[in-house]
Amino acid sequence: MAVAFIGLGAIGAPMAAHLAKPGPLVVWNRTRAKSRDFASKYGATAVETPREAAAAADVVITCLPTSRQVEELLSGADGLLQGLRPGALFLDCTSGDPGASRRIAGVLGERGVAFADAPVSGGVSGAVAGTLTVMVGADQETFERARRVVQAFGQRIEHVGPVGAGHAVKAINNALLDVNVLAVGEALAALVKAGVPARAALNVVNASSGRSFVTEVLVPERVLNGAWPRTFRLALLDKDVEIARSFAHDAGVAAPLIDLTGSLFTAARAQLGEEADHVEAIKLIEQSAGIEIRG
Ligand code: NDP
Repeated sequence: MAVAFIGLGAIGAPMAAHLAKPGPLVVWNRTRAKSRDFASKYGATAVETPREAAAAADVVITCLPTSRQVEELLSGADGLLQGLRPGALFLDCTSGDPGASRRIAGVLGERGVAFADAPVSGGVSGAVAGTLTVMVGADQETFERARRVVQAFGQRIEHVGPVGAGHAVKAINNALLDVNVLAVGEALAALVKAGVPARAALNVVNASSGRSFVTEVLVPERVLNGAWPRTFRLALLDKDVEIARSFAHDAGVAAPLIDLTGSLFTAARAQLGEEADHVEAIKLIEQSAGIEIRG
């Protein structure tokens, strides 16, 4: 089974590396140097256009910032659509938009190409370890085909509903992450400013009901030690919470907490820029409080 992987970014590259082992794997990346380096490191073939990548593959996987780039790469003379073969499977691992995915599935369906949205969670470390969670939106038959492919980098592979459902679940999960990042930042800033050592406060929270992935992993590994690594861009999380906002509103659910978090993240993105990591939102809380959460 030949696979084409499009988008060798922070998480795409380690996902693609798992697919290179069984091979054959074809890769395309906007910045060609990355696809060439990847190909020589992992024994894949780097091609010059998305069309060439699709033409060489039974399965095409995209992992791009948003659904907009997926739709852009599908179109045009050198686009994926020109290369996709009838009977192929298209998996979009982008954290994308449910409506866009339904649109893409419709276009591909007319050409006999099956589509599943298959976004992932687990971060870059999960991608490297091959332990990602993959949430798949597709019909049952397409899900079964998708499962055999994504198990190369996924551990928990969940069929969450029809096309678009994977992206909806992913956006909501990330909205919960957003809420947690801001809430934990505010809470620890208040405690530190009042004189409580951050490490001691965190020890208590992590043995109590206020704990979360943010308190158990992100703050100890990135904030307390001042490391602030850049693994998941804040801009991408801002995009995710916007998708979650629209999804909740379209579903007829008032979501004031998600609305507020979205506004705060959009403001943080404007201040910190496109390359900042999502955890750096806590830096803004530190600055406004005039303290640092270290320990
Ligand atoms: P990055 O920003 O690291 O990489 C984005 C990739 O998309 C790069 O390959 C980039 O190419 C390519 N790209 C960007 N714009 C275009 C364009 N206009 N045309 C063609 N290619 C383009 O993102 P990540 O790898 O971190 O994220 C990818 C997806 O996975 C996102 O939807 C994100 O939300 C999701 N995700 C990320 C996680 C993480 O921890 N990083 C965790 C879970 C999901 P180039 O190399 O040329 O810049």
